[in-house]
Order: sequence, then structure tokens, then C-alpha cells
Amino acid sequence: MNNYLNKGAVLLISGPSGCGKSSLLKEVYKTIKDYYFSISTTTRLPRDGEKDGVDYHFVSKNEFENDIHEGHFLEHAIVHGNYYGTSLKPIISALNTGKLVIFDIDVQGHRIVKQKLSDITTSVFITTPSLEELKHRLTNRGTDSEDIISKRLNNATNEIEQLGKYDYFIINDNLEEASKLLTSIANAAQAKTKLFDIDNIIKSWH
Ligand code: ADP
Ligand code: 5GP
Repeated sequence: MNNYLNKGAVLLISGPSGCGKSSLLKEVYKTIKDYYFSISTTTRLPRDGEKDGVDYHFVSKNEFENDIHEGHFLEHAIVHGNYYGTSLKPIISALNTGKLVIFDIDVQGHRIVKQKLSDITTSVFITTPSLEELKHRLTNRGTDSEDIISKRLNNATNEIEQLGKYDYFIINDNLEEASKLLTSIANAAQAKTKLFDIDNIIKSWH
């Protein structure tokens, strides 16, 4: 770890469900190191193939509400009718060891993280080239019912309105190109001036 690095950094990605966030992150993980993916807690049911403790911590509504009252979350929100939240403790320890902490959270979560961790956060909004393509990907993924897909498409048109609040924008058309771009941003997120112990760096030059 760089001697002058004060703390870790946050890479926050948002974008409509089905735009390819998980697929892109899988590619990014092949090249970046020292990262920690924040596993969110949710009350939504696991999709086929999803594992508890890997994709999400799947909990009941009661458990989630208890965690809220006990102050366990950095942020939490209701998305498509289910609770989603980011646990505070693992984030703090990952940041303390200088890791790049990666969040895949919605636009409401982004607003809160920007308030709480603005200096160390780099945010990226990801979309498909069009709403039609999003529908196509959600249908092809085959993990959600028609009803759930239509909720997600509806939400996408609201989420896109927050695009201007993000540092970067990626259209995930070609997966390889988009993942290269996201990898560059992940690297740049760790070179932000505000992450460094500026006073000591300047002193060392005198
Ligand atoms: P998210 O994590 O944003 O919900 P996923 O990564 O699950 O999205 O991707 C949704 C679907 O789209 C998956 O079936 C995935 O294989 C596919 N997909 C992802 N990126 C692309 C791309 N660039 N071109 C075509 N299909 C893609
Ligand atoms: P999905 O059900 O498709 O996995 O996720 C639905 C949406 O919830 C996505 O936009 C995803 O980014 C968002 N999400 C996942 N985890 C969290 C979280 O911890 N907090 C917030 N605010 N949103 C989350």
C-alpha cells in the first residue's frame, strides 16, 4: 500500500436492473486488486443460482427492520418493493485496510453515500443503449417474471433522471469495451487527491 494513502476508496455503481452491472464487475475483478465488494442485505427472494452470503445476505423483513433500528446500515432503501441495504461494519474495516470498496446500489443509496463519504467516492451510472435493449436483457436473463420485469423497466425511467449526479456514465453495449472503461475508472478512483495525506507529501519535498 502507498505510504501516503490515508484510507481506502469507494467505487459506487448504479444503473437499471439488467443493464449488466454484475457482468461488468466480473470482468473488472479479473484485473483490479485489493478490492472489497460490499455484499448488500435484501428482503427480496433469491433468484435461481444466487447464493446467500455471496450475492446478497437474504433476510426477512423483520430481520431487516431490526438491523435498521440497531443502526447497522450505512444506507438502506426500498427498491421495487423490497428492502436493500449496505452494512456499515465490513465497509469500515475494508476502508481501514486501504481497499477499493465497490457498491452496486440504487440512486437513493447513491444520494446517501455521496453525503456521507463524498471525498472518497467515485460514482458511475451504467445503462443499456436503450430501454428496449434493457427489456430484451431482462427477458433473456430469464430470472424474473413478466410482472417483476415491468416493475424494473418502470423504475429504470425514473432512475435515469439521476444520471447527471454521477461522476461517470457508461453505456454497456459491447461488454468488453464497457468493462475496460469501468476498469479504468476503478483504477482512477484510487488515485483521487483527497485519498492522500497531502500535508505529509508536501513536507517530504522540503
Ligand atoms: P445487473 O447486474 O445490472 O442486473 P446482469 O449483469 O445480470 O445485470 O446482466 C443482465 C443480462 O444481460 C444478463 O443475462 C447478462 O448476461 C446480459 N448482458 C450483460 N452485459 C451485456 C452486454 N454488453 N451485451 C449483451 N448482454 C449483456
Ligand atoms: P436486484 O434485485 O436486481 O439485485 O437489485 C435491484 C436494485 O437494487 C439494483 O438497482 C441494485 O443496484 C440495488 N441495490 C442492491 N443492493 C443495494 C443496497 O444495498 N442499497 C441500495 N440502496 N440499493 C441496492
